[in-house]
Parts: sequence; structure tokens; C-alpha cells
Amino acid sequence: MFLLRIYLLLCASTATALAPPTPTHFRLARGSLIPPPLLPPLAPNATPNNPMSLLDLDSIEHFAESHGLKEAHVSMLYNVFLRRGSAGCGLSEPRSDLPSLSELTDKSFPKSAASSLLSSFSALSTSVSKVVPSSSGGYRLLILLPTGQSIETVIIKHTHTNGKTRYTVCLSSQVGCARACSFCATGTIGLKENLPASSILEQFLHAQLLLASKDIPASSLTNVVFMGQGEPLDNYGEVLKSLRGLTHQCLFNLSPSRITVSTVAPVPSIIKRLADDAPAVNLAVSLHGATQELRELTVPSARGTSIEELGAALDYHAKKSGRGAMLEYLLIDGVNDGDLAAESLASFARARGSQLKPYVNLIPYNPTLAGAAFSYKTPTDERINSFHALLKNEKIQSSVRWSSADGRDAGAACGQLVLGE
Ligand code: SF4
Repeated sequence: MFLLRIYLLLCASTATALAPPTPTHFRLARGSLIPPPLLPPLAPNATPNNPMSLLDLDSIEHFAESHGLKEAHVSMLYNVFLRRGSAGCGLSEPRSDLPSLSELTDKSFPKSAASSLLSSFSALSTSVSKVVPSSSGGYRLLILLPTGQSIETVIIKHTHTNGKTRYTVCLSSQVGCARACSFCATGTIGLKENLPASSILEQFLHAQLLLASKDIPASSLTNVVFMGQGEPLDNYGEVLKSLRGLTHQCLFNLSPSRITVSTVAPVPSIIKRLADDAPAVNLAVSLHGATQELRELTVPSARGTSIEELGAALDYHAKKSGRGAMLEYLLIDGVNDGDLAAESLASFARARGSQLKPYVNLIPYNPTLAGAAFSYKTPTDERINSFHALLKNEKIQSSVRWSSADGRDAGAACGQLVLGE
């Protein structure tokens, strides 16, 4: 019960955005409803290199329970850790070190529990091993996990016409990926491991720390996209926990409307589950073909389901969330960029209903090593514009996402971030 109570505390501020946890969520969080070919779910604190991360919410809950801490203590801990102890909620200055004993006890955190906590937990369980700046003002971070594996996290800079700058962080949810989409470098290495929620949250913290080291306020990191390595819905429980951490006011305090989960929708029923659990989080579906045959050309995992099932899951999500999903459509020369393909895409989008129509994001194929194996090429600008014009004629809301200078963009589809290439 206590464990559930602490979890409720962590979710309290997002009660309307993310559905309150129930025992069902706890089962889900441990992955029992996620179908194969997934790896077994990670137990809390399963990483071999303890100490545990302060952002390992499960372990913090267990610690609180075993040390008789109250909900207020957990809130205080995160307030001190993420906010340097200033009043109110909302992150102001990120830190990479543990709070000191006096910082905690000054706030009436019980002394023996504070000292035990500081010897059992570390501020971060991951570290940044490399930072590569991009020509457009973003950064690519190579992050070393406690298991010895590495992932990449990308920070994307956007400058508005009014001169204001904001940043989006693109998070990885797995090391590698089991889904083997034909254009994706990550898919070629297979699934190595699921990331625990703490490693997902730490990517966000590393991004804030990096920006802070460049004198860029943490508050300018406003958006999150799950478009890095991995299929987020194949690691559903941990991704859901990370969504709770990202949106909780005493952790990272992001609005759910600033977060996008991008998926190839390998299991449409999981989209329905996401609609139930986190309706306010944006959904982007990598479609790449609006007929069963066309979609299977680039997304082999679509073979286990039908395009009609996917459509029904999108309709369910739209009803629950009150808005349509983003449909990401990678345009590959001679594969899915013809007029017939555009008509089937328009028809798929139109079938979603008048109020909650999806928005179609056309992404010209960005050459990857994986795509080269299939001789994939970027369509000509003329073909891209003609495909787009056909959608517009059909009154489908859409735009073309031309590549940014470094080939990465917040609107890019999963697998088009060309990580590691
Ligand atoms: S595009 Fe996404 S789902 Fe497909 S293989 Fe790559 S990471 Fe996995």
C-alpha cells in the first residue's frame, strides 16, 4: 500500500494528464502485458553497477517504504536534488551531484534515513562519454549505461522567427531495436536491452546539464520526443514510468503536450493502452505506407497486424486524447512515393473521421547505411512536391519536413535520426 501511495504522490500533479496508477499499471510496468520478442522486464535496480540512481523511482519507493519515510520526504528529496532546494516546483538549476547530508537534514529529512540514502544511491547511474556539436546548434551525446552499453541522445535547437530559441531532446528507450525497419541503422543491430526509466530520465537530465554548461537556461529545454534508439512501446512499462517522471512537478515538470512518443505501432493494442494511461502525451505513428502491402515493405513488424487494426487503434487514441495523431511518412524514391501511394495515404487519413484527423508529416528519406542495403534513394524535390500537392488536394493536413542542416530534426521519423552514422 505504501508503495502505491508514494507512486500516487509522484503522479499527483499529472492526474489529469496521465491516468492515476492502479494495480494494473504496476503489472504493466513490469512488462507482463508486453508481447514477445521482448527481453524480460528489468527488475528495479537491475543494473549491475550499483549504487542506484536517484531517478530510479521504484527503488526510491522501496527505500521510502523500508525506512518509514513519508510522502513529503520523497517530494523534499526531489526538490533538493533537482532544484537545489529552492521553494516551489519546477526545475531551475540542474545538478549532477548528490544532495549533501545537511541539505537534506536542514529540510527535516530524518538523519539516519538521509545518510543511508546517500550511501545507497548515486545522483546518476549513466555518464556522458562524448558530446558532438552539430552545425545547427544542437548536440549529440553518447551516453554510457551501467551495463556497459551505450546509447545516443540528441539535442535539437529551434530558433523562432522572433529570435527566441528552444531545445528539444530526442530520447532513446532501448539499446538497439527488435523491429528491423528497412531504413533504420538501429534496427540492424537487434535488441540489446530495454532501458530502465531511470536511464531515460537521466538522458533528459544530461541534456539539461549540457545546456547549463553552455550558459543556456534549463528552462529552454522544453520538448521531448521518443525518437532515438528503440521502439518505445516495446519497453512500455519503463517508458510510461519515465513519462510520469518527466511530467511530475517535483521532478522535471514538463507539460505532457510537450512530449511526443513516436512508434512504428508494432502492436496496435499498446496504442490503446497508451491512450488510456497517458492521453495528453502526443502520439506520432511511423506509417510509411497506407496499405498493408506498402507498409510491410519498410516496416516488417507490420506483418503481425493489419492496417485496419492500426486504424482502429488510432481512432481509439483520438477519441481518448481529443486529438489526432501525427502520421510520419518517409518518402523513398520508387518505393512509396507514387500517386497511388499518396491516394491510399489520403484515404487512410480521411477514414479517421472529420474532427480528429491526423496530421501527415512527409519526410524525404535521409540516406542511412541500412537503407543503402536496399538501394533506397531520396525522391526528387519535384516528386516530393507532387506527393504533397495530392494530399493537399484531398484536404489532408500535411507538411514536408525538409532535413535540417545536420540531417536531424524533431519532426524526423523514428529511425531517421541516423544515430551513429
Ligand atoms: S525505425 Fe524505430 S522501430 Fe524501426 S527499427 Fe528503427 S528504432 Fe526500431
